Amino acid sequence: MSQVIKIHPMEDFKERSRGVLNDPGQRKNFRGAMDFLMAKRRAQFPDPEELQGLRDLGSAIRRYSLAHLPRLLEQLEAKLTANGVRVHWAQTPDEANAIALGIAQRVKAKRIIKGKSMVSEEVGFNHAMEAAGIEAFESDMGEYIVQLAGETPSHIIMPAIHKTKQEIAKLFADEIAGVAYTEDVDALIRIGRKVLRHKFADADIGLSGVNFCVAETGTLCLVENEGNGRMCTTVPRVHIAITGIEKVVEKLEHVPPLYSLLSRSATGQAVTTYFNLISGPRQPGEKDGPEEVHLILLDNGRTQAYADEELRETLKCIRCGACMNHCPVYARIGGHAYGTTYPGPIGAIISPHMLGLDATYPLAFASTLCGACVEVCPVKIPITDILVRLRNEAQARPDSMEATLRGSGAARTTAGTAVWSVWAQVYSRLGLYKLASWFMSRGRALSPTEQGAWTRSRTPLIPAPKRLRDLLKDRKP
Ligand code: SF4
Repeated sequence: MSQVIKIHPMEDFKERSRGVLNDPGQRKNFRGAMDFLMAKRRAQFPDPEELQGLRDLGSAIRRYSLAHLPRLLEQLEAKLTANGVRVHWAQTPDEANAIALGIAQRVKAKRIIKGKSMVSEEVGFNHAMEAAGIEAFESDMGEYIVQLAGETPSHIIMPAIHKTKQEIAKLFADEIAGVAYTEDVDALIRIGRKVLRHKFADADIGLSGVNFCVAETGTLCLVENEGNGRMCTTVPRVHIAITGIEKVVEKLEHVPPLYSLLSRSATGQAVTTYFNLISGPRQPGEKDGPEEVHLILLDNGRTQAYADEELRETLKCIRCGACMNHCPVYARIGGHAYGTTYPGPIGAIISPHMLGLDATYPLAFASTLCGACVEVCPVKIPITDILVRLRNEAQARPDSMEATLRGSGAARTTAGTAVWSVWAQVYSRLGLYKLASWFMSRGRALSPTEQGAWTRSRTPLIPAPKRLRDLLKDRKP
């Protein structure tokens, strides 16, 4: 059940994508799931004007929050501390895990129950705890399924979206003692819930993510549908929340518009079943709640994105997953093909900051640049502009520019550079362009029928028998 952070080179990405593309069953699953989510989102925003107004507001709140990030983080820390929450800062995944482990060892924890948290996936939390002899158990139904299968989530909102009902039925029958095979979805959920009930009761620590941190009040907001988040944050003696430093907003009044955009864009719900506001540990006289609450604020490359005004837009993300659902590439290859914690368009622009551009640049090229992600992003992140920027940085000569990201120039090859410089020469000189296009149309019979990756799934590129300029000349009276 371990979850290890892996950095996958380009060959792996292509291989994994090809695997899914050649599997009609998987492709049908993804297509069906994405169509369903897109329709649900559409139904939530019947009025285009209201949607645009809300997006403008959401974008402005996130941009304002980021513009004041250092001050808001200080304010958040001071408020949380005054509320009795212990705040920890982690620069790397290892530091975040070491902090959590230190807390777990101090309270002699044997079992941690987890609500859904992508940041804990990002740091490889389960694996780090397992290595120290502590069980970390997922309580979100989708996360529970992928953990039981020894996999990682393939979507940031619906972790097990890649699995069919039949696969889950078989998984439960194989892995849970005394469970018979059933495809009845209600029965499957009941089985999962029964297992989880006991885990909540036995856990020493509850771990959760955070959707928004409010600086003025020192409040942690947690959005969820299953009630497991509330159980994780109230039943165990200790609650550890973990989140990226970018999740802070200044005021409570900034939360409702973002919450509305998040739930409607993510699952097509007007509101989620649970919306938790956590302001501190159990107070004297209170009957429930944890005795200790900790917040781990993780950097992991976020300050690098923050330092550059264009790339900073990436940090506006509220993790709704809408860009994935609408991405024609994600809808065909699914989340696992990306090989990173955050898949799809947001993964392609955030992963280079976390793992380096050298390890992740193929993801920036895995986009049609159709702009569907930009159109649906509730906080108006210019994803395609950033993708183009990352492509340029991956292919630039590292010595010809200030390398912004670790691994700038990683996609540069001698052959590619030569081809593009010839292309630039030809296209910037009219005479040369006329001559080249004349030769190409006359010599079209010599065009190779095998054209590398292009012809693996497409017909070969053959120049037209007549150039456009010749066709136009022929049409002249
Ligand atoms: S980039 Fe935009 S659409 Fe994608 S997950 Fe983030 S907020 Fe949602």
